[in-house]
Amino acid sequence: MVSRRLSGPGDTFAGYRVRLVETLRTKGIRDLAVLKAFAETPRHLFVPDAVRHRAYEDAALPIGKGQTISQPYTQARYLEALRLRGRERVLEIGTGSGYQTALLAALAATVFSVERVEALALAAQRALREALITNVSVLLGDGTLGWSAYAPYDAILVTAGGPDVPPPLVEQLAPGGRLLIPLGVRGAQTLTLVERVGAGAELRHTPLGTARFVPLLGEHGFDA
Ligand code: SAH
Repeated sequence: MVSRRLSGPGDTFAGYRVRLVETLRTKGIRDLAVLKAFAETPRHLFVPDAVRHRAYEDAALPIGKGQTISQPYTQARYLEALRLRGRERVLEIGTGSGYQTALLAALAATVFSVERVEALALAAQRALREALITNVSVLLGDGTLGWSAYAPYDAILVTAGGPDVPPPLVEQLAPGGRLLIPLGVRGAQTLTLVERVGAGAELRHTPLGTARFVPLLGEHGFDA
C-alpha cells in the first residue's frame, strides 16, 4: 500500500471526500476497499483549476482536450466489478486525468496506464506525483495495442468505448483475468466484462449495463 500524506491541516478537501464516500455508499457501493480508495484519493489534484471547486461532486467533469474525468459512481461500479484484492498487476487504457489510475493504484500492486493524448498523459503524471503515488507507470501511445512489455495483466480496464475488444488486450490478459470495456457505437455502449476462463483461449462475455464513454481511438478502435 502506498503511503499518502493527505490528512492534517493541509488537506482542506478531507470533509468533501468523506461526503463523496457517503454518496457512493448511499447509491449502493458496498466494497470496503473501493470506498477506502475513494476516501484516500485526492480527486481535486486530478481536475483542472477551473472546476476544482466541484472536484468532489459525484459528476463527470471536463479535463480539457475534449475529454472528461468519469463520474465517481461509475468508476466505483467498475472497480467493484474488477474485484481487486491488492496483489494484481493492472493495465488501464485511457489515463485521462489519472484519477481512476490513482484509485487502481490504491487497490492493486502495480498499475500500467496508456494514454494517447500527450498533454493529458503529462498532466496525469504530474498529479500522480503530487498525490505521492509511486506504483504507476504511464505510457504515451495507442492503448488498443496494450502494453506488451509488462504483460500478462490480472485485470485490464478500458475507460473509452470501442467497437470490439482489441485482440492485443485479450492476448495480454492473464488466465483467469478480468477485462472491462465499454463496447458499442460512438456515444452508446454496454459495459462488458470479459473473462479469460482457465488457461485456454475461451472467453466469457458478461454485459454489466449501459454506459456512455468517449470513443476509443486507434488501430483496434474507432478512426481518429
Ligand atoms: N478514467 C479517466 C477518464 C478517461 S476518458 C479519468 O478518470 O479521468 C478516456 C481517455 O481515453 C481519454 O483521455 C482519451 O484520450 C483516451 N483514449 C482514447 N483512445 C485511446 C487509445 N487508443 N489509447 C490510449 N488512450 C485512449
